[in-house]
Formats: sequence, C-alpha cells, structure tokens
Amino acid sequence: MNEDKYNGWNDDGSFPPIEKCPFCSGSAKLCDNGYERPVIDPDTGAYIDMEISEGDTFWCECESCGATTHGKGSPEAAITEWNHRV
Ligand SMILES: [Zn+2]
Repeated sequence: MNEDKYNGWNDDGSFPPIEKCPFCSGSAKLCDNGYERPVIDPDTGAYIDMEISEGDTFWCECESCGATTHGKGSPEAAITEWNHRV
C-alpha cells in the first residue's frame, strides 16, 4: 500500500480527471471510507479535538444519480475504473 496516497489529494493534479457520469452526465466525486468528526468533552460539551481517519477504500460516486464504482485500494484505481465505465 502506498503510504503517500493522500499527498496531493485533489490539489496538485496528480490524479486523472474524473469524467462525467456515464448514466446522467452529472459530476462525479472521489470518496473514501475515512471520516472526520469532532471530539467533544463529555463533561463540558466543549469541542476539544478533531478525530481524523484516513480511508483505505476509495470509490467514485455521481453526485446526481448516485452511481458508484466498486471500492478500490487507491484513488487512482477508483478514478480509472470510473473513467472506463461504458
Ligand atoms: Zn449520474
């Protein structure tokens, strides 16, 4: 597994562009199974930290019709699969 998979995430253009949805021509986005969620102090209710999990499964999803690819081990693989759909 490439430990640097998050470097340049959508920022430096290292990933291939995500094509429009083959079903509805909507915009597709890259997704992963990571998450960010606030950590709240149980006593005071105050926000104290942000818990961040980096996902290890990636897929592309249409923002219009919800079409998705299968989960892949890297962003590049997910985008490649999406772009090669017919
Ligand atoms: Zn679509």
